[in-house]
Amino acid sequence: MTAYWCEYALVGGIVERGVTVEISGTSFSRVVVGSEPGTAEVLPGLTTPGFANCHSHAFHRALRGRTQVGRGSFWTWREQMYALAARLDPDSYFRLARLVYAEMAAVGITSVGEFHYLHHPAAGGRYDDPNAMGSALVAAARDAGIRIALLDTCYLAAGIGRPPDGVQARFDDGSAGGWAERVDGLVHLASDTVVVGGAVHSVRAVPREQIPVVASWTEGRAAPLHVHLSEQVAENDECLAAYGRTPTQVLSEGGALSPRTTAVHATHLTDDDISMIGAAQAAVCLCPTTERDLGDGIGPASRLDSAGARLTLGSDSHAVIDPFEEMRGLELDERLASQARGRFTAADLVRHGTAGGHRSLGFTDVGVIEVGARADLVTIDLASVRTAGTGASVETVVFAASGADVAQVMCEGAVIVRPGDAFELGRRLDETINALWDSR
Ligand SMILES: [Zn+2]
Repeated sequence: MTAYWCEYALVGGIVERGVTVEISGTSFSRVVVGSEPGTAEVLPGLTTPGFANCHSHAFHRALRGRTQVGRGSFWTWREQMYALAARLDPDSYFRLARLVYAEMAAVGITSVGEFHYLHHPAAGGRYDDPNAMGSALVAAARDAGIRIALLDTCYLAAGIGRPPDGVQARFDDGSAGGWAERVDGLVHLASDTVVVGGAVHSVRAVPREQIPVVASWTEGRAAPLHVHLSEQVAENDECLAAYGRTPTQVLSEGGALSPRTTAVHATHLTDDDISMIGAAQAAVCLCPTTERDLGDGIGPASRLDSAGARLTLGSDSHAVIDPFEEMRGLELDERLASQARGRFTAADLVRHGTAGGHRSLGFTDVGVIEVGARADLVTIDLASVRTAGTGASVETVVFAASGADVAQVMCEGAVIVRPGDAFELGRRLDETINALWDSR
């Protein structure tokens, strides 16, 4: 048993002073509010549960800062992303992803949902282990000390009725049946810290008749099912033209909308789409820093929330990896769209960023500081230039702190980030990403 005394800690949605937590193995065995430090190790500052990053494409991290020149759109950005996708193999993907996940850990993220579609060799064919790329991601998360939900993604088409094009051949399993057969070979990696789930890339990339195969694979394993939904108006237009239905309708008819579903982005929805997602009690993963970076638009988050959808957050393209920025981005986007403040409380936003997020990835006992929950602790410095003078409050966490203020991180009872670790991590990220672009 190990004991820590938190100067302040977020317990039950409230910031309490003087909180002793005892940890046995990987879980909290005792939580006492209003206590003295005694012999416990002291965590100065404000300690929160671990954050969940529910939508990641790890390799996109290597695009940061390199895709900001000139004009363009989501579609021109995608061309640059594809150039990078052609360069990675299982070894280089492991080297990059372990550092990207370490960057996530450094800002307080303890579970990642990796939306993984880079399956096969760039030169064509299959790796000896057809899951070599997915296995590299699982190993990378383990190396960084965080949990992973590997959301293995079915990707079969360049667009509705169009075969995969160029680098998209790396993503393609031929059919949803081929996808399921390959992913069956990944299930043995599942553990307390690894969830193997499924994903439909989008209604663009998975033909309508193939969607039920992916949905039933996840249903049979009670696994999460994630899907990019209506991120772009062009996706809706293509879907309406081909099927006479919105992407949400197509997913619903394919059995892909349920409480296990997370719809990622959900930016351009009709009123009926919002009702359908809410009635299904599906989760919706907003990715505010990516959506603003790509010029996607602002999704109807508060209407989805009112309709019954469960909101979660993700850093997606990793233009930014900072759960604090995603939490406040959700509320600040809402303010820009509605010209009113305070739709979401800071406590709501932290809940979406922690327990709600972990749950959508299949980790149901994570994201709260209470007896029985897994022992994740993120300690925020309250004396940084950003947080100083803001008071120890849940509003400080959401509206003042940044990832740079995270001093120490524990995941499942193990300390994975210590003060000062970020300097060395930055150097290694720099080396690894430069080497990737310099290769060939
Ligand atoms: Zn994405």
